[in-house]
Order: sequence, then structure tokens, then C-alpha cells
Amino acid sequence: MKMLEERIRKDGIIAPGNVLKVDCFLNHMCDVSLFHEMGMEFKRLFKDKPINKILTIEASGIGIACVIAECFEVPVLFAKKAKSINLAGDVYATKVESFTHKRTYDVIVSKKFIGPDDHVLIIDDFLANGCALEGLIDLVQAAGATVEGIGICIEKGFQEGGSKIRAKGIQLESLAIVESMNCETGEIAFREQ
Ligand code: 5GP
Repeated sequence: MKMLEERIRKDGIIAPGNVLKVDCFLNHMCDVSLFHEMGMEFKRLFKDKPINKILTIEASGIGIACVIAECFEVPVLFAKKAKSINLAGDVYATKVESFTHKRTYDVIVSKKFIGPDDHVLIIDDFLANGCALEGLIDLVQAAGATVEGIGICIEKGFQEGGSKIRAKGIQLESLAIVESMNCETGEIAFREQ
């Protein structure tokens, strides 16, 4: 999506540790019109899928997923990072290793809000090593629901998550795929799609 690539080039900051900071439009301050354009693009890419729910993970995925959900006219469910002590029997739970915080979280969704009738589109802001997505896929499968697809705003194509998830045979669409980024020059190259 050219509009997103241009915005990343203009406002993205390359931080140490392969981290791309886009907090002035994506995951701290939010450019809601851009989110809407992304939602319409995902709607086009997943037009043949019977999606009735969007699933994301707190915190930074929530704002984006809400705007995208409005384009699909479906509800958003977000997986919560839980304290282990709160893990009761009425939730599906999994573990996710955070790329940015370098720690492992228990992640839960209530059994009340997802079940075998659900056809889920998973949305997240970034794809790096794929741990967050693997956790979300686990939760959907534990509920007996179907993963219809995955929509990512920014995939870092030089990390292993994209190939791991595509190898599962799930339709994964990333609106911008960063092929390389240079911390010193600030240069960012995107994969042609
Ligand atoms: P993964 O689980 O695929 O390794 O990492 C994905 C999660 O880590 C995303 O939910 C996102 O919040 C965070 N993340 C991964 N890479 C980046 C990055 O370069 N920049 C930012 N802002 N977040 C990232």
C-alpha cells in the first residue's frame, strides 16, 4: 500500500534492535484516516472470506483493529495480557513472547466471546518473529473457531515471522513489507507487492 509506505518513509524512525518506530501515526498518536484506508484495503484483500469477528492483541493493535472492524461491520475482540494469578477456567489462554519488551506474557480471551461459529480475521500493527500471531492463532483454534486470514500493517520481511505464518497455509496480507532498514542512513526499502 503506497500510502502507508510513503508515510513510513516520511515519519518512521529506525531504532536499535531492528525496531521501527511509527508512534507518530500508528501506535501512539493515531492517524485514523490512514487506519480507515487500511481497513478498506483489507476489506478488498479479504473480500471472499466470511469474516464475522476481528481479533487483535493489546495494546497497540486495538485502535487500528477498531477502525478496520468498522469497515467490515463486525466486532473486535482483543486478547488481554493477564497476570497468571487471574487465569480462571472461563478463558482460553496462551503464552506470547513480546518482541519489544523481551518478556513472556500470558494472553487470554474470554470463552464468552469466541466459539466454533466464529470466522476470524487477526489484525496486528507489526509482524516480526511471529510470536504474537502464533499466540492469537492458538487462541482461535482453542475456541474451535476458524482463522480466515491475517492482516498486518507493517511486516519486517527480514525477520522470520512472515515465512513461518505463510507456511501454515493461512492467507497473510501485509500492507507494507520492509525488506531492509539502515539504522545509520535511515534508509528503508520495501518489498514490491
Ligand atoms: P512478533 O511477535 O511478530 O515478534 O512481534 C510482533 C509484536 O511486537 C507486535 O504486536 C508489535 O507490537 C511488536 N513489534 C515488533 N516489531 C516491532 C517494531 O519494529 N516496532 C514496533 N513499534 N513494534 C514492534
